[in-house]
Amino acid sequence: MTVKNSVERSVFDEVMVPCYSPMDFIPVKGQGSRVWDQQDNEYIDFAGGIAVSCLGHCHPAMVKALTEQGNKIWHLSNVMTNEPALRLAKKLTELTFAEKVFFANSGAEANEAALKLARRYAVDTYGPEKTEILAFVQGFHGRTFFTVTVGGQSHYSDGFGPKPSDITHIPYNDIDALKAHISDKTCAVMMEPLQGEGGIVSPSDEFAQAVRELCDKHNALLIFDEVQTGNGRTGDFYAYQGLGITPDILSTAKSLGAGFPIGAIMTTTKIAGHFKVGVHGSTYGGNPLGCAVAEAAVNIISQPETLAGVKERETLFRAGLEKINQKYHIFSEVRGKGLLLGAALNEAWEGRARDILVAAGKAGLMMLVAGPNVLRFTPSLIIPEQDIEEGLARLDKAISTLV
Ligand SMILES: *Cc1c(COP(=O)(O)O)cnc(C)c1O
Repeated sequence: MTVKNSVERSVFDEVMVPCYSPMDFIPVKGQGSRVWDQQDNEYIDFAGGIAVSCLGHCHPAMVKALTEQGNKIWHLSNVMTNEPALRLAKKLTELTFAEKVFFANSGAEANEAALKLARRYAVDTYGPEKTEILAFVQGFHGRTFFTVTVGGQSHYSDGFGPKPSDITHIPYNDIDALKAHISDKTCAVMMEPLQGEGGIVSPSDEFAQAVRELCDKHNALLIFDEVQTGNGRTGDFYAYQGLGITPDILSTAKSLGAGFPIGAIMTTTKIAGHFKVGVHGSTYGGNPLGCAVAEAAVNIISQPETLAGVKERETLFRAGLEKINQKYHIFSEVRGKGLLLGAALNEAWEGRARDILVAAGKAGLMMLVAGPNVLRFTPSLIIPEQDIEEGLARLDKAISTLV
């Protein structure tokens, strides 16, 4: 391959808005779960572009879908419909509870649509007082002002002036707090069916059941933010399918496009009817290129073998992390589901997740954190077993440089 050094990491600091702090190396090529940087150093990818590249890099079926559609038509806008969008929407309704789909371009946009739809539905159906949104501490729903305010991390939402109002945060997995706060004024409860950014926290079965029951009791819609958990990530096509409860609105993005930007909300015909012509929209949303790629991704992800493979890989990850823990006594707990796993650091390693991430990069491993104390693993759903082994060996090596 040709090494192009005309732009380097320092250019980021020169010309990019400084809201990120990217790693020192610049990846230029990927294949499966391996990535190469400008200097041709090779990395194992346990990050998957933050739970996005669910079929690895440059999967042949994805490249085919992209190039085929790329040679047909890229964009039409919502003034026209298009074949890939209709096919993808049909497929998503066949695979889930949903009867109707709205396409957006990102997770935040999907959640923005979900929240606006829930508010509109409640106001239309029950009157102007029913606007309260209940959400959870440490939740994450994106960076638009509405979604970041519904998210439960004030350091992301403070400092931008007056916020969208009538939003209440309660602790996750706390049935009593939910009972105490939910009322007939609640229009929706928004939650991740496994908190991702907030530290990889699963809901208890009782909590999930209680949320559904209390929403029904108070005519509140249950919105599941499946932006991170969706599309096979937990071993079910959507995480709600493994929880035994069904939301009223589901948002999806990240892995839906397997690396191409697309998002969507899914809901019932009854609720969807409140987004009448002109009430909501998106110029790019449902664009043929994005939908063609997502359709190819969904076709692969929804196969039973793919989903079963996620569970097998989870077992390998857990065993490997356990081995590392026996050697270094570094984790208090490994949690999560499928290939959305978190290794929580124990007290002796408190606050050092980012140090480990940087050391891992130097050892040839791309991974993630979820806050200062949790290592997060969101690799390709079809990562080869030997790449899991090799990646864990590199993690072991990275940790050894820090002890
Ligand atoms: C990543 C994420 C979002 C935001 O998605 P963007 O595509 O970055 O807007 C929303 N909700 C959850 C649960 C996420 O993990």
